[in-house]
Amino acid sequence: MRFPSTRGGCEPASASEALRTGLAPDGGLFVPELLPALSPAALDPALPYPERAREVLAPFFEGDELEPDLPELCREAFDFPVPLTRLSDRVRILELFHGPTAAFKDFGACFLARALERLQSGEKTPLTILVATSGDTGGAVAAAFHGRTGISVRVLFPEDGVSERQRKQLTCWDGNVASYAVRGTFDDCQRVVKEAFRSPEISRRFRLSSANSINLGRLLPQTVYYVHASALFLAETGEKPALVIPSGNVGNAVGAYWARAMGAPIARIALAVNANRVLPDFLTEGIYRPRPSVRTLANAMDVGDPSNLERLRFLFPERETLEREVSARSVTDGEIRDTIRRVFEGSGLVLCPHTACAEYVRERRMPEAPSIVVATAHPAKFETVVEPLIGQAVPVPPALAALLDAPSRHETIEPRLEELLG
Ligand SMILES: *Cc1c(COP(=O)(O)O)cnc(C)c1O
Repeated sequence: MRFPSTRGGCEPASASEALRTGLAPDGGLFVPELLPALSPAALDPALPYPERAREVLAPFFEGDELEPDLPELCREAFDFPVPLTRLSDRVRILELFHGPTAAFKDFGACFLARALERLQSGEKTPLTILVATSGDTGGAVAAAFHGRTGISVRVLFPEDGVSERQRKQLTCWDGNVASYAVRGTFDDCQRVVKEAFRSPEISRRFRLSSANSINLGRLLPQTVYYVHASALFLAETGEKPALVIPSGNVGNAVGAYWARAMGAPIARIALAVNANRVLPDFLTEGIYRPRPSVRTLANAMDVGDPSNLERLRFLFPERETLEREVSARSVTDGEIRDTIRRVFEGSGLVLCPHTACAEYVRERRMPEAPSIVVATAHPAKFETVVEPLIGQAVPVPPALAALLDAPSRHETIEPRLEELLG
């Protein structure tokens, strides 16, 4: 399988090349040249998750140097549960928060880290991964890459822009993972990282790569849980579910659209965004107007210029198709709070603020439809929002607790490239 760029300005890459480089040389994003039909085995509801991952991902790695490693890669990367819990008769919650940092980004990060480690074996120059993070991404990437040979990671986060628990997850590492608290905003962090990628001097000294959601290696594994969840839902209820997905950069949603195009039994897909409403405005007005993000309770979705929209537009190049297939609705902080409270009172389930956006959209848009609400993070990561609303403490899952208890270490730097790679 080859992976062309969304902008068509360079040669298609192999899977490994796309994973190594992150961004395509023409500035576009790598996409599969076709979305292969799922094998009957991939849709078997009884298949264990790592084996399903191998079935779904195999065509993408056909002929690639990673092909022989794929079964083992899937076994190692996806060693945590992926439950589909019941909210009501026809509604399930897909819990994507049982990985090392209790958010869905663990799926992509764990797979990418192990894939890159294998590609590094035999390479003399170490690979340096730079990540700017507003919170969740940096933690997932740090956890996944910690201890991988031949790869070092530098995580930049805004000194005053992350929650206490997020800071702990970013700074509990040693060895090949270094964390930098930047005196500035998330945008400053991102600017320093972009400068590094553009600097000829830096690229002579380092082999740089990125692990944010533009990397194909983070997106492909995100198709698997949609195949998994929709196959289980169909087997259990006899119906195809609609999916409701909390979205920011839209990487998670792209996985769902790809899964459906491959034949996963998914009726329709709806996106829920927070007060950052660039995507719904674009879909109704037809004009794309990126803007600075505003802070919300669902902070991992505070995105003013969703990077993976380029992949969705590539998938649906015709305006009418895009408008028909992609629906997005914005949810306010007030609606997030009400939803967390109401769902807890009604069912005892505790939702994180991102998942609450999706549940709100489901109730408004498709109250009667068989559906799956995608839960992107464990509520314990957002305890300062959630606990006052439900009036009780949220138990911290063991993997997360281990990170929160580890000693913390980081450097504080000015937002300048010399301070990071001087
Ligand atoms: C990153 C993140 C999102 C948004 O995912 P995208 O792929 O950027 O759309 C939603 N919820 C949580 C908890 C996240 O960490």
